[in-house]
This record gives sequence, C-alpha cells and structure tokens, in this order.
Amino acid sequence: MAEIDAGRILDLLNYHYPEAGTSLKCRNPFEFLVAVILSARSTDEQVNRVTAPLFERYPDAFALAEASPEEVARVIRGCGLYRSKAGNLVKMSQLLVRKHGGRVPDTWEDIISLPGVGRKTAALVVSTWFGQPAFPVDTHVFRVSRRLGLARGEKVEEVEKELKAGIDKGRWFSLHHQLIAHGRSVCLSGKPKCDLCFLQEVCSYSGGKELNSGGTGEVDTPYTGLAGVYDYLMQSVDYEGWCCYVEKIVSRHGIAPERVLDLACGNGNSTFPFARRGYRVTGVDSSGEMIEQARRKSKELSLEMEFVAGDLRDLDLQGKFDLAVLYQDGINYLLTEEELGRAFSGVYRHLDEGGYLVFDLNFPGFYHGEGRESCRVEEEDFILEWESSYRPELRIREILLLVYLRKEDGSFESYREVHTEKEHTREEIIRNLERIGFVLEEVYPTFGFEVPQGSDPRLTFVARKEGGK
Ligand code: SF4
Repeated sequence: MAEIDAGRILDLLNYHYPEAGTSLKCRNPFEFLVAVILSARSTDEQVNRVTAPLFERYPDAFALAEASPEEVARVIRGCGLYRSKAGNLVKMSQLLVRKHGGRVPDTWEDIISLPGVGRKTAALVVSTWFGQPAFPVDTHVFRVSRRLGLARGEKVEEVEKELKAGIDKGRWFSLHHQLIAHGRSVCLSGKPKCDLCFLQEVCSYSGGKELNSGGTGEVDTPYTGLAGVYDYLMQSVDYEGWCCYVEKIVSRHGIAPERVLDLACGNGNSTFPFARRGYRVTGVDSSGEMIEQARRKSKELSLEMEFVAGDLRDLDLQGKFDLAVLYQDGINYLLTEEELGRAFSGVYRHLDEGGYLVFDLNFPGFYHGEGRESCRVEEEDFILEWESSYRPELRIREILLLVYLRKEDGSFESYREVHTEKEHTREEIIRNLERIGFVLEEVYPTFGFEVPQGSDPRLTFVARKEGGK
C-alpha cells in the first residue's frame, strides 16, 4: 500500500477516535494485568463488573497468591472461562510473589512467561504501564489492519512485524486502540459496515476476501469450523450434572431405561456420561465433523457406544430406544413448527411404547434483554469471534461466527458460520408434541423440579410415547 494512503488512514482514525483507549478500570499494573487476562472472551464491561469486588478482596499479588481457585472463580463468575482464568490468576500471582517480589515485571519477556499471559497481554501491559513501544495485535487489530491494507501477513506475528515496520513508534499505542474501536463499532468481523465507514475510500477490502488464508466469504455449514474449538467453548458445561439430572427425572417418572438416544450430541461429551453409567447409548448429530470427533474420543476413552451423523428432522436409525434426550439448545435450532413436528415424529418412531423424550430448551428469559452483543476469544491455536442479534418480531437469534484455526505452518484457515435459533413458545412445543402422539407428563425449570415460573430461561419437558404404562 502506498505511504500516502497509510498516512490518510492514520489521520482519519485520529480524527474519528481521538480518545480511543482501554475502558478497563485499573489503578496499577497488577490490576491491569489481571483485567487483561480476564478480558479474553469477555467484554470490558463484564470485566469491570467482576474486578471491582475481586480487587477489594484480593488487592495485590500477595493476597491473590493465597486464594483458592474456587473462591476466585466464584468472584469472577460473570466472565467467560472463569474456572480456567481463576486457576491462572492464582498461579500467576504465586509466580509474581516468588520471582518478582509481588510486582509486575517491566519486560515483555518476564511478563509473557507468567501463567495465562499471551503475546498480546504482555504487549498491552508493557505499552500501557511501562511506556515501552509495543504493538499488541488482537483479533480486531489483525482483521482491520489487513482489510485496510496496513498489513498482509497471515500470522499474528507477521502482522505485528509489518505494522511496527510501517508505522511510527509514537503512533503504535493509539493506533492499536483506534483499530480496536473501529473493529468493534464499524469494521465488524462478519459484516463490516462499509457503507457507513469513513475509511471506505482508502480501504483495500474487496468484498469479504481479506482473509487470504482459505476464507472465501462464503458461509460454511454450521459446526464445520466450530468443531475445532467446541471443547474449548463448552468447557464450563457440566455434562455429568446433565446426565445426573436426566437420571433423577426418569426415576421420578418411574422408568429404568437401558437404551438411550442422545440427540444433537455434539462431539460426544454429553453422551459419554451415559456410557460410563452402563447405558447402551447412541449419539446423533447433524455435523459430520463433530461425529468424527466423538468416535475418536470414545475410542480414546475405551467407551462402547455408537455415533451416527444424522439430521434431527429426518431421523433414520436402527432399532428402538427407551429414552431419548436432547439438551442444551438443540430444539432451538428447529426454526418452524413444521421442523418441530418432523423432529418429534422421528423421535416418536424410534421410541418403544412407553418410552420417554426428555429435552430442554431456551425460553424468553434466555434471549430477551441481550440485544446485540459480540465477543472474541484469542488463543494460541485459534481465534473465534461472534456477534449475535435478537429479532423480537421473529423470535429469532442469529449468531454469526468467524473461526480461524491455526494450521501446522502457522497460517490460519478461516470459517464463517451462521447459527440461527428460534425462541419457541411453550404452547408451540406442547401442540407439536401432542399432535405427534406424545403425552406431556411434566415441565420443569431446567435442573430443578419446582413449578416453572414465567421467567425461567430454560425449561425441561418430559414427554411419554403412548402405551407401556
Ligand atoms: S471500508 Fe469496510 S472493510 Fe474497510 S475499514 Fe471500513 S468497514 Fe472495514
């Protein structure tokens, strides 16, 4: 890109984002380091909400080094991945106490050697608190700088090197924050708002092909790229707890199933607890990638079970089952009553008489009030960005996902997926269950057995196939 264009881009960014900076509320390098670690997969607002009580309780590295990860996890629960972050914060503080007298060191090399600290975090700390020139490249800086043509590298390190080489040192710090501000408000990961962008005339973006590492701008089948980061995303899901809850339900309803059908089983994590408890279990998922993973994992775990790739709306399996379970938001992926009916009908055909279908789904309390939100995760092996928006008139939530998986040669493979979920009403669910022939025995607030309130974000339905009782 010509020098004059870069100068113009920088001027325009300066003009439109004169005050761009961090909105993390911190008083010293220690608090800042903790806040930046917490900011992965969380917004600055979420981080600020948890750091206030966190710093009150653990004001320095000495206090946090003495804390138990479980206590810390309780305080930072409002942030994504809070369990693993809590462990890292405690270990990081212990190392600060042991090696650095409880202070945050002022060199990039020392900071990056701390647990939970990556390249971007270290660069942010040294540039924000120790006045050292650094150019932290997060997912926004990576994306926006490449779209603008300020950098062309396929790896974070390459982009960082190009930006450092092409931009005056004195502008690194402010440009970093300006690119983030622009990436969050206008140059969005999935659908950049080019029509509204003040940089349109000087931007090299060419219709979604900025990711010259395999991205085509086409939409991939849901879970094609997500399969690569699924375990990471679901690490806080208590699959054993779900299985236990289902066992309590079937016991309350007086059945002792032997053959279990786990629908929308993902990569098998929800299926394994049933197999460990001795059920003959079959997992079904529409994503071939997820089913491949599930098969691989079940072999590694030496667990006997069957996995089948299949669409919930056109279920076609061998044999019959005593119990079909479908939890998390699998039902919300069915967008019309016709699809609901097809799915319930397929399950009905695969249940023995008197067999049970237990499923949970998200309800209004889960969707409402969230509006549009976006998030990002940056790890060594992948970058994940998503933006979700809720359309109340259609009761539809659309989630746009961008997944960059790092390949062996260090370049990224990119996937663009759209996940669409419907907020069904309780009446729609019941109408379609009964139309197929199911008898609705009970509706519970998920994980409980009380009478549901109107505000429950998730409800669990227990339906029985006629006969057998
Ligand atoms: S013109 Fe489009 S791609 Fe370029 S910076 Fe603006 S929003 Fe991003």
